[in-house]
Amino acid sequence: MITFGLLGWPITHSRSPQIHSLALKLAGLQGAYELFPIEPERKAELAAMMKKVREGQITGLNVTIPYKQEVMPFLDALSPNAKNIGAVNTITFKNGKVTGHNTDAPGFEADLANNGLELSYKPGEAVVFGAGGAARAVFYAFLNNGWQIHAFVRNVEKSKQVVADLRGKGLPGGIKLYGLADLSHTLKRNKIDVIVDTTPLGMAPHIDSSSWPSNVKFPGNCLVYDLVYNPENTLLMKQATAAGLRASNGWGMLVEQALLSFEIWTNVKINRADFNAAWQHTTHTP
Ligand code: NAP
Repeated sequence: MITFGLLGWPITHSRSPQIHSLALKLAGLQGAYELFPIEPERKAELAAMMKKVREGQITGLNVTIPYKQEVMPFLDALSPNAKNIGAVNTITFKNGKVTGHNTDAPGFEADLANNGLELSYKPGEAVVFGAGGAARAVFYAFLNNGWQIHAFVRNVEKSKQVVADLRGKGLPGGIKLYGLADLSHTLKRNKIDVIVDTTPLGMAPHIDSSSWPSNVKFPGNCLVYDLVYNPENTLLMKQATAAGLRASNGWGMLVEQALLSFEIWTNVKINRADFNAAWQHTTHTP
């Protein structure tokens, strides 16, 4: 019996148990995916949880906010992705070693490809809103493929460290940080291929908010990608489609990062078309 799980807080709303249960079924494996909520005030319990991984009681662990960095001291090794991003979302115990991986960046990259944008095909330019935890993985995916990023944040001072950390990795792309007021000016000077929103705007309780100011014209012929996936059609996506652009929510990224974690734990690659078809035919509790 395989036991996987998700460590974080709050996680009761997580879709990961449903995604991984379906992956187990498609792979023909017996197992369960459990939630391991640890309130920030009880974070001393992280050590006991990591001991369970080391003892083989948990085969694989996903990690979400607020522990993507906090788990790192408990690990024996980091994958190159996790090391460069500075965050871990997947933990595995193999050959006596507890290793941290990051599947958010390849999950994001895979879902851009699902939307017709192969980052490795040709470097281009991206506008990214936000510079929090999820943005780190998004930045890495672009930088690692030689892209130029224009990152827009509400608090430039606070975000300088994230950008400095990534610049120090020697990745082929480049990143510039701006305040939100610089958007129009930047759009006039650069040819943007993709716009990515990594902020929680568009998600409850901010469903009537969007990072894109209503008085700014979108660049022509670019993809708009919102990491939010609930609601399915966010205000940013509505604005983009009204301007004649392609738009996607972040559901595909969530599925891709989950199935990449599943592959690390089980060595089984789930066929994405089979997964999507089976997901459509499964009843999911909200
Ligand atoms: P986070 O670490 O809290 O970062 C949020 C970022 O958004 C920060 O840069 C924050 O700026 C900014 N922000 C927050 N509220 C804002 C506002 N009202 N106006 C402008 N900027 C604002 O959160 P996260 O873990 O990166 O998650 C961000 C979003 O991505 C969430 O909606 C999450 O559900 C989604 N997500 C999706 C996936 C997926 O697989 N699709 C994966 C991870 C996350 P400050 O630093 O100034 O607060």
